[in-house]
Amino acid sequence: MHLARFPRIRAAHLPTPLEPLPRLSKALRREIWIKRDDCTGLSTGGNKTRKLEFLMAEAEAMGADLVMTQGATQSNHARQTAAFAAKLGMRCHILLEDRTGYSDPNYTTNGNVLLDHLHGATTEVHPGGTDMAAAMERVAEAKRDEGLRVYTIPGGGSNPTGALGYVNCAMELVAQANDSGLAIDRIVHATGSSGTQAGLVTGLAAINAGIPVLGIGTRAPRDKQEQMVFDLAMRTAERLGCPGAVARDMVVANTDYVGEGYGLPTPEGLAAIRMFAELEGLLLDPVYSAKGAAGMVDLIRKGEIGRDERIVFLHTGGAAGLFGYDFAFSGGQSAAPAAAG
Ligand SMILES: *Cc1c(COP(=O)(O)O)cnc(C)c1O
Repeated sequence: MHLARFPRIRAAHLPTPLEPLPRLSKALRREIWIKRDDCTGLSTGGNKTRKLEFLMAEAEAMGADLVMTQGATQSNHARQTAAFAAKLGMRCHILLEDRTGYSDPNYTTNGNVLLDHLHGATTEVHPGGTDMAAAMERVAEAKRDEGLRVYTIPGGGSNPTGALGYVNCAMELVAQANDSGLAIDRIVHATGSSGTQAGLVTGLAAINAGIPVLGIGTRAPRDKQEQMVFDLAMRTAERLGCPGAVARDMVVANTDYVGEGYGLPTPEGLAAIRMFAELEGLLLDPVYSAKGAAGMVDLIRKGEIGRDERIVFLHTGGAAGLFGYDFAFSGGQSAAPAAAG
């Protein structure tokens, strides 16, 4: 495996810091570290920037003048794609799916949506339940008919190319831990469209690190989530030149913390946001990292994450979304979600 063989545009601030969390560790009586992928640098950062380093290199290689992607209204992936496209002088068009039914104006226009538009991206909104991949292909075809060279990126940037960004993260994290003598017992993070976990698991397997990864689900039930991650991990391993490196039992997701559905905040998630903010001065987001943190906290409290375990929480970013979810902190719309999912 040799990542330098893959085209890549270096836009992320790497390596991201690996830091101890002393006050959280004390409160939970576990040694907890944090990998700051919320600090990747592009338009408030986040995990999608690592994936986009490889994806946007493909777009540039094909001479794309328009990049398209899709996601939920408050998609962090959409925002980072819009910023990356701006940086490369490419146009960007985004399809947003209304997966929550929220009508709060901050949800529909602030947070990530505001930033999409500031980066010059155009957006169009589709109702929840739309086949977004198919909708994007239709729009892309129409743009191609107009003579544009269009590069489409799947939701979350989760394909074998995007997952290379997290193969890279796996190697970076292990190198940092080696340098500082930190023996990691488990990596915990929020999992959604699966590229983060698939890349991490593949990278760790390829270097035979023996560090288990626990993905905390934010959307699908466990079987579906694990299968999605495993399928992508297998394809990523093939792409890397180490087919078969990932075994099915290396892919573990806990989906007990999704709550009522994707994009709908949970009480435990909101509590985790306050906990990280008040104990460590860190910002989580209600859609992903808060649910990931809530899962970690609960599994520690239940003893399922053992007393002697040294944990690294991979902070995948998302804080820009807080400004689209301010009502969730004042007992507003989130208490009675218009549902969907
Ligand atoms: C997209 C995202 C995730 C999930 O990563 P996937 O690669 O889609 O599984 C987690 N946290 C944040 C903040 C995200 O934006």
